[in-house]
Amino acid sequence: MNKVVYAQDHDLSRVNSLDELQEMVRECSRCGLRAGCSGAVFGEGNPGAAVMLIGEGPGADEDRIGRPFVGKAGQLLDKILGAAGMDRLTDTFIANVVKCRPPGNRAPRAEETERCLPWLYRQVELIAPRIIVLMGSTALQNLISPDARITKMRGKWLVSKSGIMIMPTFHPAALLRDAGKKRPVWEDFQQVRDEYQKMKSF
Ligand code: URA
Repeated sequence: MNKVVYAQDHDLSRVNSLDELQEMVRECSRCGLRAGCSGAVFGEGNPGAAVMLIGEGPGADEDRIGRPFVGKAGQLLDKILGAAGMDRLTDTFIANVVKCRPPGNRAPRAEETERCLPWLYRQVELIAPRIIVLMGSTALQNLISPDARITKMRGKWLVSKSGIMIMPTFHPAALLRDAGKKRPVWEDFQQVRDEYQKMKSF
């Protein structure tokens, strides 16, 4: 297993609950994205989940509804989780690198991810997952390294300094464009499921 350093330069250490953090995220206008979206999508799931799933940012459906991964990619994600015997709300917490929808579904820019990432870092600290699934390049490059390539790194466990097991995989939206990615993603989620089952049995 590779050892990676999990970036932690932020100071929200006095925010001690997800509800409080969510309230702050709701009020956030640290970057230009907030002006162009309906509202921040904080994330959802079990606040004590052992598994955290991290995507890129809300799309049109998520922006409208205020919940992560509720569009086509989200429905596919639910199917993958279901096939692995997992439920998004009880077994996981789902969040994104940026909380506000980038216009036209473009990838978030560096100045936007830089301003938004402290929210995600604090979510990770408060939820304290044992496993993180990084879905797609934006999550991988912002949480591991800007040079990281999802095609090379998917399917291989990384371990953070604090011992969180990290599984990079393709973003569910990529599977909608390229069915050839379904098999590798399913294999990645099977690894996640196996590790999760082991943790639950201890
Ligand atoms: N894509 C993402 O990365 N996140 C969402 O919440 C929805 C689609």
